[in-house]
Amino acid sequence: MFQFQYECPNCRLVSEPYATRGRAERRGQKHRDELHDGMHPIGEAILQPEFRAPQGKEWQAVAIAAALILIALIASHL
Ligand SMILES: [Zn+2]
Repeated sequence: MFQFQYECPNCRLVSEPYATRGRAERRGQKHRDELHDGMHPIGEAILQPEFRAPQGKEWQAVAIAAALILIALIASHL
C-alpha cells in the first residue's frame, strides 16, 4: 500500500504517513499555516515511497498466497 508523507526540509521533519496524497497535502497546508504563516518552505514535498518488491523470505508468503488464490480459483470452477 502506498503511503504519502509531507516533508518540510526547513523544519527537518516528515509527517506521519497518509493513505492519500490529498490528506498529506492538507497536513502540509496545516503545517505551513501554523509554522510558516501560510508560506511555502523551499524544497517542501509530498513523499510517495516507491513500490518495493518482496525480499528474502517475503517471497515465501507471496508464493503461499498465490497458491491459495490459485487453489480457490480452481475449486470454484469444479
Ligand atoms: Zn516547516
